Amino acid sequence: MSDHDPNCLFCKIISGQIPSRKVYEDDELFAFHDIHPWAPVHFLLVPKRHIPSMAQLTPQDVGLMGRMMVLAPQLAAEAGCNPYPDGGFRMVCNTGTEGGQEVHHLHVHVMGGARPWQRG
Ligand code: AMP
Ligand code: ZN
Repeated sequence: MSDHDPNCLFCKIISGQIPSRKVYEDDELFAFHDIHPWAPVHFLLVPKRHIPSMAQLTPQDVGLMGRMMVLAPQLAAEAGCNPYPDGGFRMVCNTGTEGGQEVHHLHVHVMGGARPWQRG
């Protein structure tokens, strides 16, 4: 699997070829605000490496996925989600067409903020 897919929307966002509102970046991970937010806070957390979905994960990705899980609450708080337990956030990772995935570069939706939300 190549690290970068030149036809992938999120690879283009990560490389800066398509603009986004960046939330976070390090050597492995990138986060940016969703263009059609469901909630007051709604960003996408993605690996920089082009992994199409969770279906392609292997044991060598345990560290990467663990880092995503641990980073999400920190970024959620920085992006304006209210504190647990009255606040909190929702994480969604759509996988495959029947799982509702439209962009085939692994991403976790992180949504939060005061209700009601636009969706979800
Ligand atoms: P999914 O259905 O899980 O594949 O979600 C894809 C998400 O990407 C949707 O919530 C879209 O609103 C979002 N999206 C699509 N294009 C862009 C873009 N250019 N910048 C930010 N978010 C986007
Ligand atoms: Zn990609």
